Amino acid sequence: MAKKQMNKCNFCGRNELEVKLLIHGMDACICDECAEQAWDIVQSNKIKATMTALEDFDIKKLPKPTDIKAYLDQYVIGQDDAKRYLAVAVYNHYKRLSQLGAADDVEIEKSNIIMVGATGTGKTLMARTIAKMLKVPFTIVDATVFTEAGYVGEDVESILTRLLQVADFDQEAAERGIVFIDEIDKIARKADNPSITRDVSGEGVQQGLLKLLEGSIVNVPPKGGRKHPDQDYVHLDTRNILFICGGAFDGIERKIAQRLNTHVVGYNAVQNVARIDRNDLLRYIVPQDLKAFGLIPEIIGRLPMLTHLEPLDRKALRAILTEPKNSLIRQQVKLFEMDGIKLTFTDEALEYIVDKALEYKLGARGLRSIVESIVIGPQFDLPSRGIKEFTIDVDFARQQMDKANLQAEAI
Ligand code: ADP
Repeated sequence: MAKKQMNKCNFCGRNELEVKLLIHGMDACICDECAEQAWDIVQSNKIKATMTALEDFDIKKLPKPTDIKAYLDQYVIGQDDAKRYLAVAVYNHYKRLSQLGAADDVEIEKSNIIMVGATGTGKTLMARTIAKMLKVPFTIVDATVFTEAGYVGEDVESILTRLLQVADFDQEAAERGIVFIDEIDKIARKADNPSITRDVSGEGVQQGLLKLLEGSIVNVPPKGGRKHPDQDYVHLDTRNILFICGGAFDGIERKIAQRLNTHVVGYNAVQNVARIDRNDLLRYIVPQDLKAFGLIPEIIGRLPMLTHLEPLDRKALRAILTEPKNSLIRQQVKLFEMDGIKLTFTDEALEYIVDKALEYKLGARGLRSIVESIVIGPQFDLPSRGIKEFTIDVDFARQQMDKANLQAEAI
């Protein structure tokens, strides 16, 4: 008796019993796994197409620094200084790339950049936002995970592994990418570190990082880390990789104040200072302060653009709530809209949220948890109540916050 011919995946050859799903075409079939792999290949080719297009890019067609800043303005409130530095750094990076290989005796050196600003003022947001418009591979890494080789943690070279991964292992594209190193202050030398304990996450890591910033050929484990010791290294040239560093540098205001020859009593209190803005000492920051904080001079020398982020005042916090394209309030309105409910916040309710955020002293980070505490109730029961409109006023906001605080106290 003739056996019934079983359908097979024409890519991997497995039959319909061996796969979860077999998709039939006119004369051929493909299984779910091969289809997924094919999708990955299509996606990675798309990424490559945008990244290699840079080879013949025209400086006239690239976004100008003002365009880059205008883009950032849609998502990030204030921080004009930092935005300008970032826009220029990225634009110059493109210029340098366009000049690569050209016979020119003036070689433009790269300008890595360091942004100093309190937590929750928008450093990471700025990096994430700019990533969306970049024409080169971009990755964000956190400096807190790095330790010297041989200790628990990651080697600094893993920064480049990530870049290689986002460039889809296209080495050339990775070699002109941009890396944002967050929390760079966490690898500062600990001055009060007792000499018997080694500073495994401080100066040693800075020395490792220096190699990358300076521009050298670095052996990068493509699969990352110490878990795959037998992999072949990729030799990545970091000369054209732009590094953007960010950090809160908690307490650096004291160093700035000391340098400004002032006397600090407690946090934020500066005496005998004429015409100096006490609440925003960061604006007076110079490279020397980073050294006093514990960054080694060689690293500072490799981060020639130094900029700061301003503390967020009441006006900025209020704007952050409603103005950015994907502001917290817009996100909430959208969520309710999906249930056919028109959500509004009264002005007083918004002011109340700002008051609470100022009280919590978490910068814009506090806003989110406050808004979440206020809307959790309506989010829970409105979708099943068939209501078409809902207004959050100050009384409702206060009531919800009190309830949330009571629950927190009870825990
Ligand atoms: P950090 O400076 O600590 O990196 P983040 O960028 O992570 O702070 O900010 C935390 C959150 O606060 C962001 O996701 C964003 O919602 C909000 N935020 C902070 N600063 C701003 C700002 N200047 N404009 C708009 N939103 C901001």
